[in-house]
Amino acid sequence: MANKNENLQPEKFRDSLGTVNKEGGRNWVYPKKVSGKFYQWRTYFSWLLLGILFAGPFIQVNGRPWLLFNIFERKFIIFGAVFWPQDTYLLIFLLLIFVVFIILFTVVFGRVFCGWACPQTLFMEMVFRKIEYWIEGDANQQRKLNAMPWNGEKVRKKTLKMSIFILISLLISHTVMAYLIGIDQVKEIVMQPPTENLAGFLGLIAFTGIFLFVFSWFREQACIVVCPYGRLQGVMLDNQSINVSYDYVRGEPRGPIRKNKQEDQALGDCIDCTLCVQVCPTGIDIRNGVQMECVNCTACMDACDEVMEKVERPKGLIRYASENSIQKGTSKLITGRVKAYSAILLLLISGFVGLLSTRTDLGATVTRFRGMTYQEREGDKISNLYELTLINKTFEQQEVDLVPEDPTITLERVGDTDWNLEGQTKFEGRFFLVKAQADMQVPQESIVLLLQQNGETIDEIETNFMGPVKK
Ligand code: SF4
Ligand code: SF4
Repeated sequence: MANKNENLQPEKFRDSLGTVNKEGGRNWVYPKKVSGKFYQWRTYFSWLLLGILFAGPFIQVNGRPWLLFNIFERKFIIFGAVFWPQDTYLLIFLLLIFVVFIILFTVVFGRVFCGWACPQTLFMEMVFRKIEYWIEGDANQQRKLNAMPWNGEKVRKKTLKMSIFILISLLISHTVMAYLIGIDQVKEIVMQPPTENLAGFLGLIAFTGIFLFVFSWFREQACIVVCPYGRLQGVMLDNQSINVSYDYVRGEPRGPIRKNKQEDQALGDCIDCTLCVQVCPTGIDIRNGVQMECVNCTACMDACDEVMEKVERPKGLIRYASENSIQKGTSKLITGRVKAYSAILLLLISGFVGLLSTRTDLGATVTRFRGMTYQEREGDKISNLYELTLINKTFEQQEVDLVPEDPTITLERVGDTDWNLEGQTKFEGRFFLVKAQADMQVPQESIVLLLQQNGETIDEIETNFMGPVKK
């Protein structure tokens, strides 16, 4: 979205990243400590979200996890509902709903998610940054510390900071792992020697390393160069979207307060103190307009409000506002785009609810045994061998049976003949279908098996039966 302020410099700032210098190296950002009402609210909100995040793996409903994203076994539990690999279509629906919701939310409220709820911002600004301020001091003290030689003070502060960062990274990696494999498995990995659970142990080390790297060094680069959501802002936002915005109509022409009243009256409200730039964790100047790097963290809003209070001018020179509300003084939340996305979202939710309500508690797959056609048996009979996969998606034991619809066909279980499934288990077995050869009309015919759960038919499975036709 271009800045419509004619007084501003041509948009040269968009040609480069504020965090990358001319040689392509890193411009380290030292954001100044911020305080203010938005920062306060964000702090409280982050406590709530971090509390939920860390408590999540411990929450169990009826002895099972409330949330589990086991990508290795492709088993997901979302708010207590279990999704197996056979439910992938439901997960795709859920993912689509999430994506459309995010788009809709972004079209209306811009990147408010980034500033208030994104785990990257939460951990960076509300955990790691606060620890850094506590140990190394505000921006200028950090600059000084980094510039000084490795003396006792620097070694002590850096060691303390990195030790705490490593501990927190360990905590985050164990939590993430608990969401992936369950809290009980994580406990096992922690209690046993690394050799007993080498893959899990290495996974924890890798996650810890990644988090430590991201929060101690990579930082705002994750939002600027890696995050796909951030990079999609250009297509999602429009002039009606609400963003952290600088009111250039009120603020320009900017300039310091003058003693000469007449000169001062010719200026806008921005006193060009650059505090909004100094507090920005992504190193940008919001007065240049909405930029991809802005994570809507509200730091510049707080900083500017404080300045406005001091110079006795109205707060909100930088505020949540749409481009149209600043430029024309009008704002409209329900636009054509919002209506269209809402309709798609509604359709997807209806489809998901429909599919969820018709989902069976029992998943069954029947396939012919590979590389085998038929067997001739005594008594002029033909048999075919099949493989059966059963998944009990419920948490209760289920008694399962397969009954051929055609009563002249008999089913013989092979190997493990106990088809009683414990809750949340998968069973793989085999069975024969046996038929009189005299009944074969064609070399390959379609037959129907009735899937029964606790004596009740819940589904029909179609497969085929092969055999020679008697001439
Ligand atoms: S903090 Fe406010 S007054 Fe100071 S430069 Fe930024 S916009 Fe202008
Ligand atoms: S411009 Fe303001 S809201 Fe955007 S990242 Fe910088 S400080 Fe945060």
